[in-house]
Amino acid sequence: MDWSGYDRIGKLGLQFANLASGSTVSYEISDIYFTTDTSGNSGSGGKQDDPTTDINTDIEYNFAKLLQESLYLYDANMCGTDVTEKTGLSWRQNCHTEDQYASYNGQTVDVSGGYHDAGDHAKFALPQAYTASVLGMSYYQFKDAFTELGQTEHIQRILDHFAEYLEKCAVLDANGNVIAYCYQVGNGNTDHDYWVRFNCPEFTTLCPITGQPDYGTIYISYMPAERMVESKSLKLYLVSFRNHGDFHEDVVNVIMRDLIAIMAPKYIEVQGKFLPRGGISIDPYANYGIPGTKYEALAWERLSQHDRVPERVDNR
Ligand SMILES: [Zn+2]
Repeated sequence: MDWSGYDRIGKLGLQFANLASGSTVSYEISDIYFTTDTSGNSGSGGKQDDPTTDINTDIEYNFAKLLQESLYLYDANMCGTDVTEKTGLSWRQNCHTEDQYASYNGQTVDVSGGYHDAGDHAKFALPQAYTASVLGMSYYQFKDAFTELGQTEHIQRILDHFAEYLEKCAVLDANGNVIAYCYQVGNGNTDHDYWVRFNCPEFTTLCPITGQPDYGTIYISYMPAERMVESKSLKLYLVSFRNHGDFHEDVVNVIMRDLIAIMAPKYIEVQGKFLPRGGISIDPYANYGIPGTKYEALAWERLSQHDRVPERVDNR
């Protein structure tokens, strides 16, 4: 693969880029070669039928066995649409194939591949980059040991799979420049809905008629689908109303529509509790659920039941 032009990623991928791809080696766990030398002088030796049984004599000093077997951690944690062709473990299948594509600003990004986070369902690009660097460096420095132990193609296959994924995570613009890097794939919370609420008591905007400042608290509650809003981004967004003239009723609708546009939540509601102006305080409420789903029904239920017992206003 060609890493030229990936300057913002640094040199991480360069050491892996020249490795042979398309390895045809297919190790079985029972075919592992390891030394029978228990004196501590590992690195050469014969083959045994079952390398896992003789633990009393060789497990602590047999670094050949350690290297050979530990590499299978990566076979076990491989992710993607080509795991069955690459893994050295017969029981591993392809995985996370139903959600291999993500989008970034409307651009489709293939995020399949890589390795799970130590058996977890999530994939983190930065820890993977670190791991790949350590593995790649060990191969770079001690190539002879890998060769002697019959692990050359094994380590190359593992590193290739890392490199392909790390390359995929780079989002390029039309000119080939890196504009984003996908550093996490996976959502551990897809099997249940949950509720997120932001309390924003420092909201301020301008009266569109008089230009005088208005103050209020904005409450935002939602059930995320795939995307969430980061609170710092939300803060900056809300601050953008500071010099902006808007009616209170508009404010909650604008905020809600903007959040729907960027997050596509399952359900969301935005409420404003504004301090009085002209002796009147206003509490607008807007909500939304994905049309045609139970979340739409939820939206109507909450809207129709909203404020059945109005809050007693004794602090504003
Ligand atoms: Zn997977």
